[in-house]
Amino acid sequence: MKSFTGTSIKGLKNKNRTLILKLVATCSPISRVEIAKETGLTKMTVGNLVNELIERGFIAECDTSPETVSVPGRKPSMLQISDHSPCICGMLIKRGLCQVILADLSGTIISQSERKYQHSIDAAWLVDTLMELFLNLKQGFTREILAIGISSIGPLNSHTGTILKPPFFYQIENLPITSIISKKTGLPCFLINDANAGALAEKLYGLGKKFHNFAYLHIMNGIGAGFVLDNKLFDGHRGQSGEIGHTSINFSGPRCACGNVGCLELYANLDQMQRRIRSMCSYFPGSSLSAAPESVTWEAIIREAGKRDPLALAALEEFCDYISYAMIDALNLLDLSTVIVGYDAPDNSWPVERFLSDKLSNAVIAAPYRELHILHSCFNGNAPLIGAIAVAAEQIFSLNLPVFEPEQNENESCDLPEAENANLAGGSTYSQDV
Ligand SMILES: [Zn+2]
Repeated sequence: MKSFTGTSIKGLKNKNRTLILKLVATCSPISRVEIAKETGLTKMTVGNLVNELIERGFIAECDTSPETVSVPGRKPSMLQISDHSPCICGMLIKRGLCQVILADLSGTIISQSERKYQHSIDAAWLVDTLMELFLNLKQGFTREILAIGISSIGPLNSHTGTILKPPFFYQIENLPITSIISKKTGLPCFLINDANAGALAEKLYGLGKKFHNFAYLHIMNGIGAGFVLDNKLFDGHRGQSGEIGHTSINFSGPRCACGNVGCLELYANLDQMQRRIRSMCSYFPGSSLSAAPESVTWEAIIREAGKRDPLALAALEEFCDYISYAMIDALNLLDLSTVIVGYDAPDNSWPVERFLSDKLSNAVIAAPYRELHILHSCFNGNAPLIGAIAVAAEQIFSLNLPVFEPEQNENESCDLPEAENANLAGGSTYSQDV
């Protein structure tokens, strides 16, 4: 991948352009003054680069912010991603569901399509389905598509773009998904583990923007975690970090398909919750869950727990007990005090966060000395899907994927030193006025 060293005018200009683009994408609406303050660039440099980004169609002025509405005659000065700006395609691969979306650099979804499946599938079906969904969305879509991000169940190798051998995922293994999709579409393609994608979505676009360190915990269709440390996603040796569902919470427990014993996912799952409900339903005949405990869904448990149904609360508390055993280890090991939890839930949902908060507050070593934040993801259960956009956007924002055609007069070299910049979401970066 081409990258800029920052030692030429071209490199510095691209850094500054991209820095501003990232701020507008992740913090909009934002003013030129706020951009200058955040980046350390002069107002004149910001003004010039903003005008250029507007001309190139990446950003646009929007309505004035509430504070400036009352100033008579003041021109709109806030900036956001343009309605005509280039976009990213995001693909999500799950057991039973494929989703494809087109979104702008701010993570705002423009169009989406999905295919549910219950039958056995193979690699060819998976690729064909993703391509069919992509081409359907692309039909009549006039905006440029810069890249494709793929968020998938693991294990996978994000460096080679290969889905390795996810458990219970039919016979699909060693699938070089990024090279196949890239070849078929002609677009750069990036692969990320779904829970890491959730963490990245929160860091770029969600609640994680204001935290330097946090864990994202995804608890739908298995349990995974993503960790943001020092403002950056920590994705391990080959992008396979965060397999918290396969950490053991019982050394004498049953053997898991992964090879370990007593894995968290063997205990914190829907079958176990249904068993818990069945064992208690005679005590709570009035519960809506007691009629057919063996077919109770996750959605029903979450919904009824929000209404304080005792059976749903009992099942969910046990589920959170198991999760907390693994999360206590993670928070203690990494000295974290923020957990963002992703799952589908109605607006009034509170029990999962409440149970986890109570259990972790009583067991994490650092908890007595600082507040633990257990938050529900602002994307509900969709953070891994938004993360498919985020993984490609991050490549653009970190200059690994150049999107600006250099101007002719930008080829001169210079020896300007790099100046440390203000702290920005997604990691430290550098700027110098040019
Ligand atoms: Zn396991």
